[in-house]
Amino acid sequence: MNANTRPALKAAHPAYFTETVQSVHHWTDRLFSFRCTRNTGLRFTAGQFVMIGLMNEGKPLVRAYSVASPPYDEGLEFLSIKVQDGPLTSRLQHIRAGDEILVGKKSVGTLVTDALLPGKTLWLYGTGTGLAPFLSLIREPDVYDRYERVVLLHGVREVKELAYADMIEGLAQDEVLGELIGGKLAYYPTVTREPFRNQGRVTDLIRSGKLFGDLGLPAFSPESDRIMLCGSPEMLAETKGILESMGFEEGANSRPGHYVIEKAFVEK
Ligand SMILES: Cc1cc2nc3c(=O)[nH]c(=O)nc-3n(C[C@H](O)[C@H](O)[C@H](O)COP(=O)(O)OP(=O)(O)OC[C@H]3O[C@@H](n4cnc5c(N)ncnc54)[C@H](O)[C@@H]3O)c2cc1C
Repeated sequence: MNANTRPALKAAHPAYFTETVQSVHHWTDRLFSFRCTRNTGLRFTAGQFVMIGLMNEGKPLVRAYSVASPPYDEGLEFLSIKVQDGPLTSRLQHIRAGDEILVGKKSVGTLVTDALLPGKTLWLYGTGTGLAPFLSLIREPDVYDRYERVVLLHGVREVKELAYADMIEGLAQDEVLGELIGGKLAYYPTVTREPFRNQGRVTDLIRSGKLFGDLGLPAFSPESDRIMLCGSPEMLAETKGILESMGFEEGANSRPGHYVIEKAFVEK
């Protein structure tokens, strides 16, 4: 067979790298995560998102996804919802090791430390899959150079949705990151619909002051606290209201502020 009669190689879309799924982990019937290969040309900053997806009838079917792995990781990791009638995730939830996946070449997003003014304590507050960008940030050494303390708040409905809890709790003992993270990282998971050591919505725990009492930290102040939020549109609106009433100003890549937000998904 000469070169002209050989079947065409699968056409790669110019905006995407074609990566290979390496492993998949199902946390619940609504939540899974997976690792895939990473093209060396993909650069991103901890907290950013990329478009990922599958080829569908010859066209890319893609959605925004926060990169859950840190920038120095040779692979990529994503945490995903399973929407049963969702165009992408109704299919994506069935991927297996060896399958191909599209990963956009461009990374963007506001959940980056450069969008925040210097401060003492960095609070990372995610609900549901809104945890994903923070899984990258808590493993980024630069974050611990910038802040004296990092607090990760994860709000979910049921205990089994506390994805990555073991990994997060083990970071202080990690061979490489342990020394850097030391006593700087605090993890505060909270559950709304089941008994758990921390219960209730984070917004209620902020208002009542219980969050600060439990952590042994002073209440939020724009002078020392910097906050990143990632959750549902309602969670973002409510938390934004609380923060603005305390004098916090929203930051952007072009104008750093006291807090930054990113939608964990868009309501359609
Ligand atoms: C900046 C950004 C970052 C994102 N990062 C992630 C991520 O890291 N992981 C992830 O799973 N999704 C993430 N999403 C949502 C993602 O883009 C898709 O919406 C999701 O993969 C579902 O795709 P779909 O085509 O199956 O359904 P869609 O048609 O996109 O969504 C259908 C409906 O499902 C619900 N929904 C969608 N995504 C979620 C979610 N994550 N949690 C709860 N309900 C949801 C909403 O009600 C939505 O209207 C992100 C969205 C944005 C805007």
